[in-house]
Parts: sequence; C-alpha cells; structure tokens
Amino acid sequence: MDKIKNNIVGAWKSVCLDLEKKLPRHAIHAWFDPITVVGFQKKSFVLEVPNQFSLEWIESHYKDEITLSIETLFDKQIKYRLLVAKEKDTSSNVRVLTEPHIRPRVKRFNNLNSKYTFGNFIVGSNNEFAKTAAESVSNNPGQQNFNPLIIYGGVGLGKTHLMHAIGNNSLKKNINLNIVNITSEQFTLDFVNSLRKNKTIEFAQNYRSSDILLIDDIQFFRGKEQTQEQFFHTFNVLYQSGKQIVLTADKFPGEMKGLQSRLLSRFQSGLSVDVQPPNFEVRVAILLEKAEQNGLTLDYSIIEFIARHIKNNIRELEGTIIRLLAKSSLLNIEINNQLVTEVVKERVGGRIGNEISIENIVKKVSEMSSVTEDDIVGKSRKMEIAEARQVSMFLCRDIMGTSLNNIGMFFGGRDHTTVMHALKTITEKQSTNDRMKRMISSIRRELGFSFL
Ligand code: ADP
Ligand code: MG
Repeated sequence: MDKIKNNIVGAWKSVCLDLEKKLPRHAIHAWFDPITVVGFQKKSFVLEVPNQFSLEWIESHYKDEITLSIETLFDKQIKYRLLVAKEKDTSSNVRVLTEPHIRPRVKRFNNLNSKYTFGNFIVGSNNEFAKTAAESVSNNPGQQNFNPLIIYGGVGLGKTHLMHAIGNNSLKKNINLNIVNITSEQFTLDFVNSLRKNKTIEFAQNYRSSDILLIDDIQFFRGKEQTQEQFFHTFNVLYQSGKQIVLTADKFPGEMKGLQSRLLSRFQSGLSVDVQPPNFEVRVAILLEKAEQNGLTLDYSIIEFIARHIKNNIRELEGTIIRLLAKSSLLNIEINNQLVTEVVKERVGGRIGNEISIENIVKKVSEMSSVTEDDIVGKSRKMEIAEARQVSMFLCRDIMGTSLNNIGMFFGGRDHTTVMHALKTITEKQSTNDRMKRMISSIRRELGFSFL
C-alpha cells in the first residue's frame, strides 16, 4: 500500500502497462490514456475520466480487466474509483461573474457544440463556397449581402457543423456576443410554451436580444402558421438592427413548400449556399480526420474501402468509424478486414455481401490462375491446382468470414483442418512471396475489396 501511496501515478501507470497486454491498442488509446490519477483514498485509486460516457463505457467493458490487473500487481484489497472530471469554467462564464454590468446570457441559448469548428471542417468542391460564406459571416456578422445566410442541402452533409462553427468563431472574436442557437423544433416548442404560460413577451425578448440568431432545420416550420408569424417578426427586428441570422434547411429556400411567401422573400434578400455530397477524395480525408479524432490508426486500404462504399453522407462515414471502434472494443479484437467488412455491410444494408459469393471468388481466382473452376473445387492435388484452391479458401474466409466447415464442404467436401492448413499456408506465402501478395491484392481489387 505504501508503495502505491508514494507514487500513485507510477502505480497506476503499471496497471495501464499490464492492461496494454490484454486490450487492443485503440482501446487503451480511447479509454485509458485520457484517465488522470487524482489520488488514492480508502485503498482505492481515484481516477478522473473526461465524461460520463467514458465512465460508463469503462465500467461496463473493462471493470474485470482493471480489477484483475490491480490484484495481480498489488493486492486484492486495492480497488479503483472513477470520477467524471468537472468541466472547466469557460472564460465567458468567468467574465459574466466578474463583470456584472455585462448582460448575462441565458444559458440554454449557449448550447454551441464546441467540436464543430472551421478548423476541423474538411473542405472540398462540394462545400467550399458554403464554408467560405460561413467563415465570412462569423468574422463580420450582420453584413447586408450575407443576411440571412441560409445553408441548405441533404442530411449529414455538415450544415449544423457550419452553423455551430459560425457561433464558435464569432464568440472567439467577441465574447460578449449574445448567440442564440436553436433548432426550429425547439423554437416552436418554446413559442407554444410561452403561449401557455402567457409569456410571449419574454419569449420575443429572448430571441430579439440576440446578436446572432442561428436556427437549424427551418423546414420544420412547415405548416406552423403561428410559429412562422413569430419568426417573421423576430427576423424583421433582428434584420433591421443589423443582427446576423443564419438558417439551415433541407432544400433551396425557393423550393420549400409550406412556408409563408413573405418569409421566403425575406430569405431571398440574403445568401443561400448549398452543401453537396463529398467526392471520393474528400471522403477519404474526412475518414482520416475522424479516425484520428477517435484515436484510431487505420490502414489506408481500409479507409479507401469505407470511402468507396459509403458515399452520400458524412454522418455515416463518421458513424462507421465510431461503430468500428465500439465493435472492436466490445469484442475485444483488433480491427481487421472482416470486422470492417461487417460494419460497412451493416451500413449499406448488406449490399457488399450480395455482390460477393464463394462462386464469385472461385471465378476470379480461376481467371487469375488459369486453373478451371471445376479443378478448384475438385479433388486434384496438382501443385498449381491445390494452390488456386487454397487461395480461394483463404479469400472466402478473409472477405466473407465463411466458417471453416462451410469452406471445406464447398471445396470438395474437405474437413476443417484442411481448410485451416490452407489459410495458414497462404498467410505465410503472402508475407514471403511477392507473386502471391500481388495476386491476392489484385483479386481483392477486382472483387471490390482493396485491402492489402
Ligand atoms: P447536417 O446538419 O447537414 O445533417 P451535420 O452538420 O450534423 O450534418 O454533420 C454530420 C456529421 O458529419 C457531424 O458530426 C459533422 O461534424 C460531420 N461533418 C460534416 N461535414 C464535415 C466536413 N466537411 N468535415 C468534417 N466533418 C464533417
Ligand atoms: Mg443538421
């Protein structure tokens, strides 16, 4: 015990080193590296984690491993306790506290997501104009030509990200700005509540005191006449006093149905910019960035594979990375080809699986090796035939995760030990033999699987 007390940080470090032997690298990176040791009390390590989510994740996934490592290294009586780190005061709060004459902001309005910045927004031809306009607005809110700024486009393409980035960046420049950021649904709800409680004046004041009003997804105002009426007045008050309004929508404002025409004509006085689905290179860049943010190092070939299959939606690209991380943590395995295939398949509704079958693999191997398909699934032990068969078996397992028994059955009713031998042989040949390596990677490419 004294040993621990004398050097708590070192003691905890030795626990982490022990955990590194048992857990995948990315799990350590994602969940253990951010832990701070804050003390040792009542025979327990007191550890701080960044947020509630980490706390729950660690407790539900790694409790046994941590306990075991501590027991092995120290003593059965030693435990650990996790705490969520308190959020640091932001400088804005400090200012409000120390300078009472500054108009205090209504907290609920300040719900900008600090992760959405211009710095981590990846730019391609699909969103360049939108980003430039957004940045310009945040540097100089209220310029007439850019008021209102309307960012429109499909789901998951970065509209909300850009809108929050405007808020975050403007605050960086001027901390006293009153930024009101809300979804159109919240706005509606707020309005309805204010009607119920006879507080429409307060409602109006809250919104009309903003320096920048950010409203997300205004398509939800559709058909809500009274809310639109309120919004129209708010809009006019702000616009006339040179305050910036930023809106996002799923369509070009001119094509929006169910919104009053006087609102639509107001929208036209500003600037509408669109975000489009990203092209291949932008998707790769986004995946690299998101993997890095999540502490994952993925082979370029895996990134490319994901980018090739998930095309329309950046949220999906991000979701794939998170899902990979979650699954590999959950199953306690390193990220491998099979896991990536599985996760991508879930995302695209199994389309990959449908394109690939054992027959397809055999056909491709036959084309590449000049051994006939019949020979590949037949009995012959001739060297080149046996090798083509082994390559096919290997690819079935590696791409589709087919069970050893099923592979054996398909390839001439062989048993699973034969299949295991084949997998081992090809794995070895791949690392020692360039011809084999090239052949496997070109078959993969032809099948749409460009993993190395
Ligand atoms: P939308 O509001 O258009 O539906 P979001 O702004 O919510 O989309 O974006 C979905 C996710 O994708 C967010 O996590 C966002 O950070 C991310 N994202 C979108 N576009 C980009 C981009 N160009 N660079 C980096 N991340 C992006
Ligand atoms: Mg959005």
